[in-house]
Amino acid sequence: MLDKVAIANRGEIALRILRACKEMGIKTVALYSEPDIHLKHVRLSDESVCIGPARSADSYLNAPAIISATELTNAAAIHPGYGFLSENCRFADQVETSGFIFIGPRPDTIRTMGDKVEARRAMMRAGIPCVPGSEGLLGDNEDENKRIARGIGYPVMLKAAGGGGGRGMHVVRDEEALSDAIRLTRMEALAAFSNDGVYLEKFLEQPRHIEFQVLADSFGNVIHLGERDCSLQRHHQKVLEEAPAPGIGAEEREALCDKLIKACVDMNYRNAGTFEFLYERGQFYFMEMNTRLQVEHPVTEMITGVDIVKEQLRIAAGERLSLKQDEVQFRGHAIECRINAENPTSFVPSPGAIDIYHPPGGPGVRMDTHIYSGYSVPPYYDSMIGKLISWGQARKDAIARMRNALDEVFIQGIETNIPLQKKIIGSGGFGKGGLNIHHLEEKILSEQ
Ligand code: ADP
Repeated sequence: MLDKVAIANRGEIALRILRACKEMGIKTVALYSEPDIHLKHVRLSDESVCIGPARSADSYLNAPAIISATELTNAAAIHPGYGFLSENCRFADQVETSGFIFIGPRPDTIRTMGDKVEARRAMMRAGIPCVPGSEGLLGDNEDENKRIARGIGYPVMLKAAGGGGGRGMHVVRDEEALSDAIRLTRMEALAAFSNDGVYLEKFLEQPRHIEFQVLADSFGNVIHLGERDCSLQRHHQKVLEEAPAPGIGAEEREALCDKLIKACVDMNYRNAGTFEFLYERGQFYFMEMNTRLQVEHPVTEMITGVDIVKEQLRIAAGERLSLKQDEVQFRGHAIECRINAENPTSFVPSPGAIDIYHPPGGPGVRMDTHIYSGYSVPPYYDSMIGKLISWGQARKDAIARMRNALDEVFIQGIETNIPLQKKIIGSGGFGKGGLNIHHLEEKILSEQ
């Protein structure tokens, strides 16, 4: 097993990784930015090293500082968490060429899957259905682009090949708007991702977002842990997730997962990964693959009993997966509400000191968070301060427990989106399940 792991992330996920390491007897090094010295995992880790000032570019994205600190503390591996450098193939490559283990896929897999056009090609080769779209990147010939868009049929969605985090996407409803939208998306993509490659996809009007979790070890063993429904989104960002996805049958799941597992074997996939799909009228359409641990991994853990982070550590240490596909059992239903430090109606971030925090509890309730009374949420990073997860034998039980937990949790000092989560959980639409990706914005938020 690994002797010591450096955690190159912050907040709840750094604490989550620390917990898994401690359970497995692995020593930890917390790599933190100056304002993050008060984070819980920094206090609980065996060692900690400050890797730079508040600005992410100077700390959590500062690859040389992260690698030096790993070397200095003699850690064997680096866990990148999610966000920051987790899907940066150059970083993964630097980690490995410096003689450390990158807890994630091989750098070349990250490179391929990080380019959405390349990823689509790889999936099509594996017989996995993709959203209808352009063959590859769009060129500069406006007439040719119009011809491609007409072939796909309006409305279409322009996407940045290097995009992520819900950015670099634009819906185009008619030919007149196409050329300007291409120029705009290119400019945004260049600024945000240093890559001005854009492509076209059919814009699906009422899809759900359903994604599949896979795990792969270095011996060619690949398993899937079922799917998550992440359709409740605002500005293409997930707000609430659940597993399993309401209405998806075992046959449908297995048929697609067989192909996903085969694709993983073919590309020599390693570690944890997520295949994201849009689902409309009984059809799955591949969107992209995330080559890392996802924010919403706990709902899968709750229904399978598999600790995904521990599996990641095992795989990184060169061990086999701890279970086979036929040992994966799905039990009950889980829901995750992302808790953000923000105004629940304007969504303006609300950093600052938390005077009082009362955690929720009870059977089937899990709160993944780094906050505590007296902790101050810094203004420099993502506004997510925790994830509240509930489990129940049936979906309605998980909802009832989530409703209780949202009533119990008390955070004073900053604003949070808890009122919005209560509204979602209490809504008739959510009670029925199977909502599409526009429901939150078009129905729930528009009523406010
Ligand atoms: P990112 O990498 O930025 O997360 P994704 O490709 O995963 O981008 O898309 C994020 C979200 O955008 C999806 O969950 C979905 O809500 C919406 N979306 C993406 N592609 C389409 C499409 N072709 N039609 C409709 N909505 C889409």
